[in-house]
Amino acid sequence: MMGTKTERLSATLADITRAAGILRSGGLVAFPTETVYGLGGNARNDDAVAAIYEAKGRPSFNPLIAHLPSVEAAKRYVSWSDQAERLARAFWPGPLTLVLPLLEGHGISPLVTAGLDTLAVRVPAHSAARALLSAFDGPIAAPSANPSGRISPTSATHVRAGLDGRIEAILDDGPCTVGLESTILGLFDRPTLLRPGGISADEVAEVLGAAPLTRNGAEAITAPGQLQSHYAPSSSVRLNALDRRGDELLLGFGDMDCDVNLSQSGDLIEAAARLFAALHELDQTGRPIAVAMIPQYGLGAAINDRLRRAAAPRNI
Ligand code: AMP
Ligand code: MG
Repeated sequence: MMGTKTERLSATLADITRAAGILRSGGLVAFPTETVYGLGGNARNDDAVAAIYEAKGRPSFNPLIAHLPSVEAAKRYVSWSDQAERLARAFWPGPLTLVLPLLEGHGISPLVTAGLDTLAVRVPAHSAARALLSAFDGPIAAPSANPSGRISPTSATHVRAGLDGRIEAILDDGPCTVGLESTILGLFDRPTLLRPGGISADEVAEVLGAAPLTRNGAEAITAPGQLQSHYAPSSSVRLNALDRRGDELLLGFGDMDCDVNLSQSGDLIEAAARLFAALHELDQTGRPIAVAMIPQYGLGAAINDRLRRAAAPRNI
């Protein structure tokens, strides 16, 4: 997407409609939330979500937060609970993200959840974000709108400095007010604070009637989203394979003889978009998996990171 002209949009009805149209056609739009500017793409479109990783130059597939217009919309994608209801009433719209089990038939791209069976959901409070979510009328996957490794952007100028020419549009509605990222709370057996943020653990405790479990900060940062193990196939995975050995099925890349091809034409965005579905498909056969060499540039870095995890010895 390098070389795209990045449109400047404002929070007028016409521009919000334009931004929703860009999202609908698979494009990326940076938009303000009360925490930081997010880099939004259609959460149900594999290619759009792959393009988010590509634009940010992210070296790994960390799960992304799905932004939604309302509690009702959230309930279409995740299994709702009593605790979720109480927290949503207290803090939504606002800077609290809830991680909940995905519902059957959710339609969310596996690149959003990094293959997990839980989804992080949030209803933001910012008026422009809400207007965009209503106009788009679907889940918007959005990490912070900065190149990987740089500081989160709290103004449209920050976004342009990092992503100009790499995304379709920036919706400029001034600086963000919270400037802190959202608090992430996993609603598993015990509510667990996965990332501190705009809403404090005490505020959450008051609503839940008990303090959430916390994880030490270093762990939360170096291993985000690892409360449940990352998706790994149950079959063995062998990397950098040149051909099949024994009973193996070959996951290919580029013009080659294989069982499933990530991208016949050698397109890394297409390969990223298909990665999780391809691994699931091969895993279902119960046969060992061999994976062809994937180049290490662009999205190849994130694909290889994920494949290395899939191939690593299991400790569970
Ligand atoms: P960012 O996109 O920079 O706001 O970061 C999103 C954060 O949410 C990351 O730390 C993710 O690991 C975390 N996250 C998103 N989805 C999940 C999930 N399903 N389980 C656990 N953590 C998640
Ligand atoms: Mg970030």
